[in-house]
Amino acid sequence: MQIGEDFRRRLEAVLRCPTAPFHEGNVHRVLRDAVAASPRLRARKDAFGNLLVSYGPGRPPLLFACHTDHPALEAAGDGTAVIRGGIRPKALKGARLRHLDGSLAGVRAGAVVRDGRPAVVRIEGGRLRRGTPLVLDLPKPTIGRQIRARAIDDLLAVAACLAMFDRLAAARWKGSVGALFTRAEEVGFAGALGWVRTTRAPRTTTVVNLEMSSARPHTPQGMGPILRVGDRITCFAQEVLAELEVTATALARKDKSFRWQRALMDGGACEATVYAHAGFRTGALCLPLMNYHNHAPEGGVTREYVAAADAENLVRWMTAYARGFKTVDGRRARDRRLEALWRENRTALAGTAREANR
Ligand SMILES: [Zn+2]
Repeated sequence: MQIGEDFRRRLEAVLRCPTAPFHEGNVHRVLRDAVAASPRLRARKDAFGNLLVSYGPGRPPLLFACHTDHPALEAAGDGTAVIRGGIRPKALKGARLRHLDGSLAGVRAGAVVRDGRPAVVRIEGGRLRRGTPLVLDLPKPTIGRQIRARAIDDLLAVAACLAMFDRLAAARWKGSVGALFTRAEEVGFAGALGWVRTTRAPRTTTVVNLEMSSARPHTPQGMGPILRVGDRITCFAQEVLAELEVTATALARKDKSFRWQRALMDGGACEATVYAHAGFRTGALCLPLMNYHNHAPEGGVTREYVAAADAENLVRWMTAYARGFKTVDGRRARDRRLEALWRENRTALAGTAREANR
């Protein structure tokens, strides 16, 4: 399956951005440019720099949420660097590092100083000012049957949101939907925790969190985006999951290349737990990711990747859900299924009631 041209353009713009927890400016610049270029989009940032982009009029009843950072390092000023986010320090040994402007920093990650939270590694080859963010030096993003980049997690979701807006605009859709772009997820949901504490979005708002999650034997790449029923902490709102399922089933009926999976991804927690705990109507979608947080299977670091078909199907799913929002009835499909089962056996059940209790 080919990914749409609109999506490809968005991926090219977003995936090349070096980004780090607390240093997401490159990604947010792309977002602000996208908003400036489209009369249908508006952006609002909160006190913590989280960005809410709305399509259409009024307050969007549905938000897709994703984060704009990726694990990275931060120079401590004493010849070491702190790892911000979940990269194993041993995997970094010998890795070349770049500055946020993309230039080579002229240094490499060295021996592990501390393997804890946060982990610390030695920096070899030069001194850097305290607080300097550093990203891994990895090959440029490529888009083929697989989409490979330093920060698929979660920049692919950022591009997916922009592609969804593109498709809604191309269809001249008149409704309203938003995308929430949060900062500093990798250090512990910092942006999302700030947003739920200050937003005036009503708790009736539906939030669908978008993540890249380590592919598992039961959720392989190429089998479609995953309806994530929960994470390590929370099970998400079953009404939202039912709506997403109805949407996916309808898409699959119309289009044989649309695939989707359903799973509890309890390998880790995600920001959906933050939104659910704050009382929002919460669902989650994710893509099966390889080389999670840049860990190469043979050791060392490498680019993350997803199957392009899964990514394209994610955008189709989001777009269809946004368009059908409030008209899809998650309950009805289940109602019908259970009603049919009931009708099959109710006579036999009633007819044998006395016998069973004799
Ligand atoms: Zn991550």
